[in-house]
Amino acid sequence: MGLLTGLGIVAAFLVALARVRAPLVAWTAVAAAGVALADFAGLVSPGGAAVLWALFLLVAVPFNIPPLRRALISNPLLARTRRVLPPMSQTEREAIDAGTVWWEAELFRGNPDWSQLLGARAPELTEEERSFIEGPVEELCGMLDDWQITHELNDLPPEVWEFMKRHRFFGMIIPRSHDGLGFSALAHSSVVMKLASRSVSGAVTVMVPNSLGPAELLMHYGTDAQKDYYLPRLARGEEVPCFALTGPWAGSDAGSIPDHGVVCMGRHQGREVLGFRVTWEKRYITLGPVATVLGLAFKAYDPDRLLGGDEDLGITCALIPTNTPGVNIGRRHYPLDSAFQNGPNSGEDVFVPMDWVIGGEANVGKGWRMLVESLSAGRGISLPALGAGSGKLAARITGAYARVRQQFRLPIGRFEGVEEALARIGGLAYMMDAARVLTTAAIDSGEKPAVATAIVKYHLTEAMRQVVNDAMDVHGGRGICLGPANYLGRVYQTVPISITVEGANILTRSMIIFGQGAMRCHPYLVREIAAAGDPDRSAGAREFDRALFGHMGYTLTNAARALVYGLSRGRLAPSPVAGPTAKYYRRLARMSAAYAFLADLALLFLGGALKRREMLSGRFADGLSFMYLCSASLKRFEDYRRPEADLPLLEWACKYCLYQVQGALDEILRNFPARTLGQLLRVVVFPLGRRFRYPNDALAHRVASLLLEPSETRDRLTAGIFITEDPSQPTGRVEYALRKVLAAEAVERELRKRTVIQPPCLDYDAWLADLVTQQVITREEADLLREARDATRAAIDVDDFPPRRKARAATDKAA
Ligand SMILES: Cc1cc2nc3c(=O)[nH]c(=O)nc-3n(C[C@H](O)[C@H](O)[C@H](O)COP(=O)(O)OP(=O)(O)OC[C@H]3O[C@@H](n4cnc5c(N)ncnc54)[C@H](O)[C@@H]3O)c2cc1C
Repeated sequence: MGLLTGLGIVAAFLVALARVRAPLVAWTAVAAAGVALADFAGLVSPGGAAVLWALFLLVAVPFNIPPLRRALISNPLLARTRRVLPPMSQTEREAIDAGTVWWEAELFRGNPDWSQLLGARAPELTEEERSFIEGPVEELCGMLDDWQITHELNDLPPEVWEFMKRHRFFGMIIPRSHDGLGFSALAHSSVVMKLASRSVSGAVTVMVPNSLGPAELLMHYGTDAQKDYYLPRLARGEEVPCFALTGPWAGSDAGSIPDHGVVCMGRHQGREVLGFRVTWEKRYITLGPVATVLGLAFKAYDPDRLLGGDEDLGITCALIPTNTPGVNIGRRHYPLDSAFQNGPNSGEDVFVPMDWVIGGEANVGKGWRMLVESLSAGRGISLPALGAGSGKLAARITGAYARVRQQFRLPIGRFEGVEEALARIGGLAYMMDAARVLTTAAIDSGEKPAVATAIVKYHLTEAMRQVVNDAMDVHGGRGICLGPANYLGRVYQTVPISITVEGANILTRSMIIFGQGAMRCHPYLVREIAAAGDPDRSAGAREFDRALFGHMGYTLTNAARALVYGLSRGRLAPSPVAGPTAKYYRRLARMSAAYAFLADLALLFLGGALKRREMLSGRFADGLSFMYLCSASLKRFEDYRRPEADLPLLEWACKYCLYQVQGALDEILRNFPARTLGQLLRVVVFPLGRRFRYPNDALAHRVASLLLEPSETRDRLTAGIFITEDPSQPTGRVEYALRKVLAAEAVERELRKRTVIQPPCLDYDAWLADLVTQQVITREEADLLREARDATRAAIDVDDFPPRRKARAATDKAA
């Protein structure tokens, strides 16, 4: 046996050990066997063997003798960690601790256990939830006239408010025991999604009382008396809630609100009681102008120690009836021409009795934790539903429009340029809905998956921006001219709202997803940090040592896995399924290992400084996010029992996501803090280069074609939005035209084949009459062509107005 063969065998053993995460003793045994082989088989000279044995002992002895290992390796590293560890504020710690980790942690850790993803049952609505969506929600959609709402009334009509309250739309999350509907997160998301496809203003109005706000906070943290009083009233719509956290001085950094309440005695209902004198100024508060109960976050202080503890008590949440003296509420903002109620409010020295604090005195100072915990689940429901609804609407209507709208004597959807946009719309809509359903199912299973919800909040609203932009481009002037016939313009206008609220997107991408992801998903990081901060220094040192060596094994394993999977182009990675989708599982497993390895190295090199390297952190966020979105798409395909006709959509989504993961890792390596190390790491991450490609033109063509005509795939893709063929409705007009155009397609094709062309100066009806007279076509065929023409005209029409369009009321002056 030659030296190279010997080395090859040892290397193969070491890689195999790394892949299976063998214990340290197995590593030591294999390394010893390798050196012995080299020595006794004469593969190296006696001098070389001595050097090998010396190297072996130098590494093996300290690693295998814990006291020595601690003295030589882990204690110096612990001292360094203690020095570089950035101080963590209480606020940051609570944000990091909030919620749970779930499937995204599997992807983060480099060895996803697919059974966790595929083992979960396909999420389904209950019979009751389904009939609510097919009944009252469908009826409400029929009542929502978005032009009337956004332009004429700048509000929902009174009968719509009344209908929403009567059918308990504001109590979807409130349990039945308190008169609510007690719906699952999936049902809540499905209701919002359907409403959003009809009127974003209507959807937001329903969304807010059901997301992060008084009801959610009361259910988890309220006293029994508060729950019994408020929850039924909120469910029945007798109280309209809002929740006020942010203000002029604290938006994204909401933990720094200057609003304050000082503990004092005050008069309430004729008695002297303990409470707070609260002063605040808030803005952008949804439903604020019409709220009857104001959820308020403020910082509590107790300078006179009336509560017997610290002076600075922390953020506290209270429910304040809006008719309380001193509450200023009622003016409104105009968020990009949307009509949902939103406005500022303030108060000065308003007395808030302790009973109004959510959860009472026991919860004073616990407000931030309550809010971030609620946000951990809540941000995965409402805005992703809005995004998915817009994606479905764009896919359904843009496809139909691109089929009925002709230019250069062809449907515009047949031009490759438009196909490219349609493919993006179709592929992204598939991915968005898959992620929406997967995440709400996790919430329904009891998880509060903090990182996954941040991923879907960010990516589904960003994908919404992309699909709505594409839809606008394909619609041309038809999307631009506002009026009752326009079903896209208002959606386009509201995109930045979704981007900004519940964690503005730039911040969510660059600070939250990876920042929180690394802390929550990494199997050793939190243990190491906790050990470094342990006031019992010797217990801390022992725990740090254990965590550190577990961590090293984890890093080596991921490196080996990434290399082996990379060299085999993913073929050696496991797949839980066979068939055409298996390769995507393998590629994802490969990217997951590479990601975990790279994330570890970045954490090692940058430590706490990674927090400030937001560009790097943002790319790590993208890598993790697109793995999550890809896996959600694969899960959806399985949940629908692998419909072959949907494969183009799935393939587009998977290829797109994998391409994005690859791009994120590539950019991380290019910008790695130590450049040379970045180049070396590239060998492990991309040993054969970057192999994933953006979905190609042939696939784009297949996806685009799916949007251009009715099919089960198109119905599955857009299921759950408001769909009508009623030509008196804005979207119904386009759906109706699609049916008519397709019905006339064969006749039209035949005329084109025979080059029968409408003469320039003859109107369409007269030309058809001529063709019937000349027996070129039958009367029935002429009817088909006429109906298609008329329906198309209605579908492509836009509104016009008198030259002096009514100005807004003169009384409507800004303050
Ligand atoms: C229509 C609407 C409805 C709303 N409803 C409510 C409500 O009901 N209740 C409520 O309390 N609040 C509400 N808000 C407020 C919303 O939560 C804030 O707008 C949001 O937190 C962002 O704050 P800001 O607008 O002040 O932007 P800023 O905080 O000034 O942020 C501006 C930009 O800077 C970025 N940024 C900030 N810090 C960082 C960072 N460290 N790293 C990277 N990027 C960063 C942000 O991502 C954003 O892009 C609403 C806002 C709007 C517009």
